[in-house]
Amino acid sequence: MVITGFILGTILGSFVKALADRSLRNGTFWGRSYCPHCKKILQWYDLLPILSYIFLKGRCRYCGDKIGMEYLVVEVGMGVLIGFLFWQQFNNFQSFDFAQDKFSIFNFQSSIFILDLLYKIFFISTLAVLFLTDLKKMFIPDRITLPAIGISITFIIVITVIKIIYLYNYLSQTVLGRLLLPPHSDYFLRHAYYAAQPFLGSLLMGLLIGGFFMTLIIITKGKGMGGGDVKLGALMGLGLGFPNALVATMLAFLLGAGVAIVLMVAGKKRFGQSIPFGPFLVLGSLIALFWGERIINWYLYLSM
Ligand SMILES: [Zn+2]
Repeated sequence: MVITGFILGTILGSFVKALADRSLRNGTFWGRSYCPHCKKILQWYDLLPILSYIFLKGRCRYCGDKIGMEYLVVEVGMGVLIGFLFWQQFNNFQSFDFAQDKFSIFNFQSSIFILDLLYKIFFISTLAVLFLTDLKKMFIPDRITLPAIGISITFIIVITVIKIIYLYNYLSQTVLGRLLLPPHSDYFLRHAYYAAQPFLGSLLMGLLIGGFFMTLIIITKGKGMGGGDVKLGALMGLGLGFPNALVATMLAFLLGAGVAIVLMVAGKKRFGQSIPFGPFLVLGSLIALFWGERIINWYLYLSM
């Protein structure tokens, strides 16, 4: 599973790099990749993640121009992230006790698990694109964030509806279960509300974090943060939900302040000189995605 995740990650890595480059060039997302130096259209065997880079020794097959190390770094980085995600998710999934339920797409738990995994893969890939564009050109493209926000909202709605439909079907199969449905009892409505809580949490977090960044922009008159950060903040809130989105935001500020201090001490930046905030939001989000619960438990334990 880890190896499958790694391979999938490296493939996604080359897409991430291509999307980031095309966003920065403001070029189309469609069409074949070509060498930026000789403009020759690249074949599939020139685009194999990691392998092509190694076989071609980091040079274009056609003109011999050097291909940046960035391609390799992004592919390996995405491979590690998705490999780790698979390892963590499948470990958690197996630790559930399913008695007779066998793993299959038609099984309720497994389908929720697969949908959730697909969304996490999407979320990580999107964050990786925004990390690259903001780091290189301090640019967070709307062409990436707005569709990602739309997909996130759709995903949360779909998963909530599936849970509620499943509960309804499950109850209506037995005589006893039917007594728990309206108008006999409010059991179903109460549990439908529980199922909708993550949805409400995500929506609230999206509005809260996006709104918070918007307020910061208004107070500081646009120094340090831009509209791109607002949309990235909303995306983080939607993708991570409550309370992980809060953990991610706090980590981003801590990491950002830490790096800013190091850069100033090292004399690379002066006070007030801006560094992009997006990469820290992305790093905070990834840490919260993988270890959010642990961080919260640890924090609550410390503060007791
Ligand atoms: Zn070339």
